[in-house]
Amino acid sequence: MIAIIGAGISGLTLAYQLQQAGKPYILFESNSRPGGYINSQRFGKYLLEVGPNSILVDKKLEEFIHELNLDKLFEPAAIINKNRFIYKDANIQQVPSGPLSFLTGRFFSAKTKYAIFKELFNKSISKENETVYDFFARRFSAPFTQYTIDPFATGVYAGDIKQLLIEETFPQLVELEKQYGSIIKGIFKKGFGEKRKTGTFVHGLQTLTDTLAAQLHSLQLNTRVLNLRKQMDKIVLTTDTKHGIEELTFDKVVVCGTTFQAATLIKDSYPDLSAILSQVQYASMKAVFAAFKRTDVTHPMNGFGCLYPSAEQSFLAGTIWNSSIFNDRCPADEVLTTSFIGGMHHPEYTALSESELEQRAIQQLSKDLGITGKPTFTHVAGWNKAIPQYDIYLKKARLASKLLSDDHIYFRSNWTNGISLGNCIQSARDLALIL
Ligand SMILES: Cc1cc2nc3c(=O)[nH]c(=O)nc-3n(C[C@H](O)[C@H](O)[C@H](O)COP(=O)(O)OP(=O)(O)OC[C@H]3O[C@@H](n4cnc5c(N)ncnc54)[C@H](O)[C@@H]3O)c2cc1C
Repeated sequence: MIAIIGAGISGLTLAYQLQQAGKPYILFESNSRPGGYINSQRFGKYLLEVGPNSILVDKKLEEFIHELNLDKLFEPAAIINKNRFIYKDANIQQVPSGPLSFLTGRFFSAKTKYAIFKELFNKSISKENETVYDFFARRFSAPFTQYTIDPFATGVYAGDIKQLLIEETFPQLVELEKQYGSIIKGIFKKGFGEKRKTGTFVHGLQTLTDTLAAQLHSLQLNTRVLNLRKQMDKIVLTTDTKHGIEELTFDKVVVCGTTFQAATLIKDSYPDLSAILSQVQYASMKAVFAAFKRTDVTHPMNGFGCLYPSAEQSFLAGTIWNSSIFNDRCPADEVLTTSFIGGMHHPEYTALSESELEQRAIQQLSKDLGITGKPTFTHVAGWNKAIPQYDIYLKKARLASKLLSDDHIYFRSNWTNGISLGNCIQSARDLALIL
């Protein structure tokens, strides 16, 4: 019997795969709802993603969606989602979309363009534990890094590229450097990798986790696992349910929560690993959802949204233009936006009151998008310790946690094999094959 702790996308996918393979399991979830960070909420005519907004779908994931009979509910993002904007020189500017347009467009100065071109002949090689900033600044120059990679890392990790490690975040680029001596050469020779499409589901991403949960025979909600301990060749879990404290014995356990949740579970049995897991850094974030009358917005909002490089010292880290990329997110004559605040660059902003967050976010949005009217709808949400940082602490935690597989204890979540929903799904499916 296999215990799975945590019914976010990782735990749900793992449970589903084990069930399909006829392997007995119990999935424990402390909350009253499954889904973890995936949380689609409807407020009248507004559909908010109070968590992840979209999923990148490759061939394997497309097959999984098909297997779940969700093809008809899958909604690919509007084609304009490929347009990305970055705040630069106090303006929202469209980012060049490929290596050639980096060199031809107006986004970069002539000096930075020359530095990008010189990357082709840059013979330097990455050293162990090189940060994302050092890697890109070494190959492409600091200005390029500050205005492309820094905002990208904010968009994905809410992170600081001076702490994130290149081998943990972009291992394929380290490989390209080794193999071709240049990232640009490597991309031209190998291509950009498999094509993936951005999408969601008609009623929000939660359709995916709700569908998985509905298929499971052994999902126990409102059940917190308090700790685990090894007993002979078995693992004993102490669970806390509305019926009281219970001890249950399993052959294998998979922990599908954050490093700090995992650290608590193993504190007594594996104190050294618990201490390493406790050191992992997470970014906290707040989000301000705001809708406006379309006629009150000057900017065409013809893209996915806008990211704010840390060098610009903006209040916002990034804004997604939800109604530009997905249908029926708000009334037809309005636009819906989600603005993120905080992250590793500005953790102090997450302590602001809801009214201050809302007021400052709307002030900046109004300036950047040329909005004249007041919002028709607002909502504020937050996530404490939301995004694990793929830095030196996480590298140590990932390596150390693998040793517990000798004791049949495994970890699968967004800190083990990649942060994205696609990473979580694929790594859970891979683990199911070997359990
Ligand atoms: C604001 C935000 C925006 C994001 N945007 C995107 C995006 O657009 N696209 C994308 O691909 N990714 C995005 N991500 C990342 C993605 O959402 C997460 O990486 C992913 O949802 C993590 O899933 P998980 O199952 O690994 O963990 P979680 O969702 O954290 O689930 C873990 C579950 O375990 C439960 N649990 C923990 N400990 C115990 C215990 N002791 N007993 C019982 N239950 C327990 C928790 O209650 C929780 O339900 C975003 C993340 C955030 C926070």
